[in-house]
Amino acid sequence: MSGLNAAGWRPAMNDGGEAAAGPATASGDRGLMLEEPLIFELGTPAKCGVDLDAADRAPVQGLSRFLRKEAPALAGLTEPETVRHYTRLSRQNYAIDLGPFPLGSCTMKHNPRLNEKMARLPGFADVHPLQPQSTVTGALEVIEQLADWLIRLTGMASVAMSPKAGAHGELCGLLCIRAALDARGEARDVVLVPESAHGTNPATAAFAGFKVRSIPATATGRVDLDALKAALTPDVAGVMITNPNTCGLFEPDMKAIADAVHAAGGYVYCDGANFNAIVGKVRPGDLGVDAMHINLHKTFSTPHGGGGPGAGPVVLSEALAPFAPLPFVTRDVDGTVHLVEEENRGDGHDQAFGRMVAFHGQMGMFTRALTYILSHGADGLRQVAEDAVLNANYVLRACEDVLTAPFAASGPCMHEALFSDAGMAEGFSTLDVAKGLIDEGFHPMTVYFPLVVRGAMLIEPTETESKAGLDRFIASLRSLAQRAQAGDDTLHSAPHFAPRRRLDETLAARKPVLVWKGDAPAS
Ligand SMILES: *Cc1c(COP(=O)(O)O)cnc(C)c1O
Repeated sequence: MSGLNAAGWRPAMNDGGEAAAGPATASGDRGLMLEEPLIFELGTPAKCGVDLDAADRAPVQGLSRFLRKEAPALAGLTEPETVRHYTRLSRQNYAIDLGPFPLGSCTMKHNPRLNEKMARLPGFADVHPLQPQSTVTGALEVIEQLADWLIRLTGMASVAMSPKAGAHGELCGLLCIRAALDARGEARDVVLVPESAHGTNPATAAFAGFKVRSIPATATGRVDLDALKAALTPDVAGVMITNPNTCGLFEPDMKAIADAVHAAGGYVYCDGANFNAIVGKVRPGDLGVDAMHINLHKTFSTPHGGGGPGAGPVVLSEALAPFAPLPFVTRDVDGTVHLVEEENRGDGHDQAFGRMVAFHGQMGMFTRALTYILSHGADGLRQVAEDAVLNANYVLRACEDVLTAPFAASGPCMHEALFSDAGMAEGFSTLDVAKGLIDEGFHPMTVYFPLVVRGAMLIEPTETESKAGLDRFIASLRSLAQRAQAGDDTLHSAPHFAPRRRLDETLAARKPVLVWKGDAPAS
């Protein structure tokens, strides 16, 4: 097994060709920086960590052709070996519980432990979607209460709770728009999407069968209202606008945009992934929005980014509410809640476009989000938005003298600070600063997004970072920006202190090696 060290493990501290500081170690580990081989390098199929009864070989009726001809080549490890393998791997991960995650657009905030405690209550965690409704009224009550909060916070008419992510919510919203157009007997097939939009917006519109037409941004990073008005031809089904937008800026023309779109017979879809910046301050319903998804896993602190499934409820205006998908929770006049699972019950909701998912959505996320909302209260949610915006502006103003901030002159930002690579020494880029942050012990910011800014660095501190924490991050970012300005070559080979050095990210993305192919370590 080539490439393995004396202890039989593959040392990777020196990936990238540069010798790590200090003497080499026999194990490949360096202090608590532990090297870890693949699980197949650790165990072998010849070994088994547990005593299993001999399998019953009697062929199952009709399924015998699926019987294995040979044993699967699983790596055999004992329980302690298995536990150590995964624990060692987990220590190479960065996590929101280790430090700030300044990823713009992602809203990586602290996940309160109270949320987890509530979501784990057996009455919520152990319910089954096929249980009789009479046995899950508490869970239905949670969905209904959360729905009520989302409707009030957004000033909208109703909400479809079942979509399972922001992008899924976008699809739900566009399918409502399509159903509304069908009901009007109109075959409008164009969706207008600003240049700065999140990639999911044009992808969703295309997936839903619409043609995408792009709207340019102004020099201050906002939607060009005149260009949008000029694009409002009779074939336009609607617009998809993010507010606050992906440059971290509020769209002050939102109401004018909505009025123009409505006057032209279209609908307004708002990408509400950035709702955390305005929750409790602005109601999208007052701005003329017809449909907007809310990422519970962003605004309302449920885990995401490998930490759990998302949830993307879509709030809807009076115009789109009749087309919302099944199933949905409703409260009867006597106060009891029930799940409406079928069409044409004679209750007026007979225009549902269909279903997004088999059941009602992500129960665990609903419980966490409602816990977060109730523990903050309406005033606390408003403060979430205010603190998130304050923190982002603190980062923006603390770094604008060493990093180019393209829109800083036009006023404060919302919940994200945006910088570009202009002003760095020849040959230095955003990537160098991002990799340098890893050496500084931080997760990098979002890079090269939004596309409307060259070498974009999008930083979203969220409200959960303290001033002291922000000051530490700012000190590191300023130092890296100054090294990039001064042309410090050591930055080109960062990270120097991570378990892996600078990787060929294009190769990793285009030709990922995902399958263990036997003895030789995959290269
Ligand atoms: C995160 C995000 C989305 C997509 O949400 P998912 O839950 O990841 O599908 C869409 N738009 C914006 C602006 C986002 O930040």
